[in-house]
Amino acid sequence: MPDSETITVIAIDGPAGSGKSTVGRRLAEHLGLDYLDTGAMYRGVTFAALRRGIDPADAADVARLAEAVELDVTGGIVLVDGVDATIEIRGPEVTRAVSLVAANPAVRTEMVRRQRAWAAQHGGGVLEGRDIGTVVFPDAALKVYLTASPEVRAQRRAKEVTDLDYATVAADIARRDAADQGREASPLTEAADALVVDTSDLAIDEIVADLVRRLP
Ligand code: C5P
Repeated sequence: MPDSETITVIAIDGPAGSGKSTVGRRLAEHLGLDYLDTGAMYRGVTFAALRRGIDPADAADVARLAEAVELDVTGGIVLVDGVDATIEIRGPEVTRAVSLVAANPAVRTEMVRRQRAWAAQHGGGVLEGRDIGTVVFPDAALKVYLTASPEVRAQRRAKEVTDLDYATVAADIARRDAADQGREASPLTEAADALVVDTSDLAIDEIVADLVRRLP
């Protein structure tokens, strides 16, 4: 693991729709750090499995795929084995299968390895996901756990996707929350020393300014 005491790592975790991406991107920009959306990596592996006809429930095949697949999730475009998957990784097929892929311990080991390597190469960064403060960088300079009410989170997601109604999005989020919190390998949970922020009624600028103040 790169020494996160000599590089600045900020860990942002939380469930879907809690504001991680918006807050993470803004914070990274403000601090001049790079930003990594680790959810896009799990989505990229899932996209690759579906594209190659690999059953997401086939743990051994998916584990092999996770080691072999080429992922580039930086720069706004998501490339999976050189194919632009930016749109598809957010689509219903990938969203339905991603929690199963992310519960595969071998997939997690490989993604965590890549995330640590990314931070070492980039001189730190803002990493956003489900296990950043608990597993990937437990000694990050700042650990944040974002939450929001299920209704607010579903409303935010429903606004992002045009082809799904609110009820479908809300059901999908509830299912994914349960899977992510209930899995054995690195379940979604707040680190004991994470700063917990409920973003339901807060403006992005307020949250970012508060986090900047709290940086050591
Ligand atoms: O952040 P996003 O909603 O795009 O993440 C998609 C899925 O990837 C999550 O529901 C979760 O199953 C998985 N994930 C994870 N660990 C991370 C990031 C995402 O398990 N660090």
